[in-house]
Parts: sequence; structure tokens; C-alpha cells
Amino acid sequence: MKVVFLGPPGAGKGTQAVRIAEKFNVPHIATGDILRAAVKEGTELGKLAKSYMDRGELVPDDVIIGIIRERLSQDDVRSSGFILDGFPRTLPQAEALDELLSSINMELDKVIYLNVDDEEIVKRLLSRGRADDNEDVIRNRLEVYRKQTAPLIDYYKGKGLLAEINGVGDIDEITQKIVEAIGVNG
Ligand code: ADP
Repeated sequence: MKVVFLGPPGAGKGTQAVRIAEKFNVPHIATGDILRAAVKEGTELGKLAKSYMDRGELVPDDVIIGIIRERLSQDDVRSSGFILDGFPRTLPQAEALDELLSSINMELDKVIYLNVDDEEIVKRLLSRGRADDNEDVIRNRLEVYRKQTAPLIDYYKGKGLLAEINGVGDIDEITQKIVEAIGVNG
């Protein structure tokens, strides 16, 4: 299974991506989690990433693409595929992913676009209380999402890969809709 989760911050990508990864026993690759782990460990990557994350900006494409390139080269991905959560987030990242996948003879099965309205997003993020979840940073993350990530909706629509799912509602029901969108053979 090779699936990408797309959607605004707070759409529930992480929650749903973990559920799908467990259900189908596929590696869950979340760039936000990888970066937060690096920040916690105080590595060079962590120090660099923190300066962007604290402002709600995106970490530079080349840094993120390097992380994904390395992760996709590992055995579990080669044998089972992946659930990508939080990557790609820009057009250059999406194009780099296409190149990476074609170089290892893989193709995406589906892009799950979890759609949630702005009002609900702000409400959810404010109640989550993560370090980068204060109101100014949230506003900036939404702005960055609209400018840099939302264009990926059309990019994947054009490739016939997009499945749009309403991210508001019962968590189990949303999971079920995602499973159906991926398809039994996923
Ligand atoms: P959210 O829950 O808001 O979607 P994530 O946990 O996915 O947040 O990511 C948190 C932060 O990590 C982002 O605001 C950004 O600074 C950085 N980040 C995560 N993934 C990427 C990416 N693909 N490209 C650039 N920056 C990223």
C-alpha cells in the first residue's frame, strides 16, 4: 500500500494515518513526528527544524526530501509500502516524491485528502496545546497551508489519485470511509 494523507493542520491526518497503518500493517511515516524527535534529541537537524516549526514555517524542501529519500530506501517500505503523513507539503516535494518512487519502481495508490473547515481547525489546534499550537503560529500554519500545500489537491486530482473525505464527524466512521476509498486491494 502506498498512500499519502493530505489536508490542513488539525484535520486528523495523524490519527487516521496511524489507524490505517496499523490496520494494514504498513509503515507510518510522519515528517512532523520525525522532526519533533530530532528536536527532542537536540541533533543538528532538530536545531534547524525547530527554528522553522516554532514560527509555523515549513522546513526547507531539500532537508525534508533528504529525510524521505532515506526513509523510503529502507526494507520495510520496499516490502510493504507506506502511509505518508505530512509529506509532501509543497509542489517541489510532490515532484521529488514522484521521482523517488519511479526510481524504485513504485507508484502511489491513493491520496487521501481530509477536508476540515477553518473554524473547526482553529478550535481543534487551540485545544491540542502542542508547542507550535498558539494562535499566531496556528494562523501562520493555515496561511502556509493555503499557499504552499493546498495546490497539491489539484496536482493529485489531475493524476486521478485524489479521494476527498470529510474530516468532521465520528472518528471510526471517517476511518471506514478512508478504508473504502483506498479499496480492498489497497
Ligand atoms: P500538523 O499537525 O500541523 O499538520 P505536523 O506534525 O505534520 O503538523 O508538522 C509540524 C511542523 O513540522 C510543520 O508546521 C512544519 O514546520 C514541519 N514539517 C512537517 N512536515 C513538513 C514538510 N513535509 N515540509 C516542511 N516542513 C514540514
